[in-house]
Amino acid sequence: MARVFNFSAGPSALPLPVLRQVGDELADWQGRGMSVMEISHRSPEFSEVAGRAETDLRDLLKIPDNYRVLFVQGGATTQFSAVPMNLSTPEQRVDYALTGSWGKKAHKEAARFSDAVIVADAAGSGYTDIPPFDSWTVSTEAAYLHYTPNETIGGVEYPFIPEVGDVPLVIDASSTILSRPLDVSRFGVIYAGAQKNIGPAGLTVVIIRDDLLGHARDGTPTMLDYKVQADSGSMSNTPPTFAWYVAGLVFQWLKSQGGLEVVAKTNKRKKDKLYSCIDASDFYSNPVDPASRSWMNVPFTLANPELDPVFLKTAAEAGLSNLKGHRSVGGMRASMYNAMPEEGVDALIAVMRDFEKIHG
Ligand code: PMP
Repeated sequence: MARVFNFSAGPSALPLPVLRQVGDELADWQGRGMSVMEISHRSPEFSEVAGRAETDLRDLLKIPDNYRVLFVQGGATTQFSAVPMNLSTPEQRVDYALTGSWGKKAHKEAARFSDAVIVADAAGSGYTDIPPFDSWTVSTEAAYLHYTPNETIGGVEYPFIPEVGDVPLVIDASSTILSRPLDVSRFGVIYAGAQKNIGPAGLTVVIIRDDLLGHARDGTPTMLDYKVQADSGSMSNTPPTFAWYVAGLVFQWLKSQGGLEVVAKTNKRKKDKLYSCIDASDFYSNPVDPASRSWMNVPFTLANPELDPVFLKTAAEAGLSNLKGHRSVGGMRASMYNAMPEEGVDALIAVMRDFEKIHG
């Protein structure tokens, strides 16, 4: 079967050259007569894979030397607990901005471990904008400030980086990491589940400033202690070796594309054309404040929701998959991570225009 344009929000499309390479070397990796999945994580061969992946990620994001990169398991959701356990005491205040489902979940989990204060909440707009920073009630006493730069479900993205002096910024970058350059030095911790822009599910990347290591509270599970993971090169137990290897191939692919500056230009073009198509029509709409629209996840609704299944069927027949919106939002959602080629977005826009002509 031919490859479709896969708009899944995650796990999502992987670059075809990466899938091809994985396929080619699955049973016989680099002439060893076995796959990369079948060797020890402590072998020199895998150490090379692991090291190269880290070096490439560092190159792509220009990660400063005083940051450590962890390749761990448990998904972004596990980081919702690891962050408060590593960076705060039970009594300490930790600040959370709520701009959608994921920020709310992160806050709820942190409240089990610390005094988790909501410093901004976009509930008033139905989570369709980012409250301006001058309305936030941040504290310089907080152990950190957590926010979700891109809310995958609502399709809402921060147009700014908050300024809170010495309070470390902690971000859940699951659905925006690697979509464009990022000034890592502005952050204390950046974490991301891999299954959107990094690689297969099962891997979580944590980028942490080294002065924030070594402060895990008593009772922190060993595997969630950032220092344990940093000291062991993320190998205090068996890491997700296959996902790590595939992530490494994705990083190489990103470098071969010209790096994040080039990728960002393509991503910007992709989202600009899709939003223009939506805005030019009365048939489609996107509820998000234009200043806070996501590059990666574009939710949109049809004027007549009864047509949703017809639209999805028409799109599927044109080779466009996984456009159904999140169950909490309805409508459609086009997730356009790095592996979505611009032609995929062009194909979606063509289907949308044709569909509107017939049904609009
Ligand atoms: N945060 C964000 C922004 C997400 O998009 C997701 C997954 N869609 C999660 C957290 C949860 O990630 P995981 O399933 O890796 O725990």
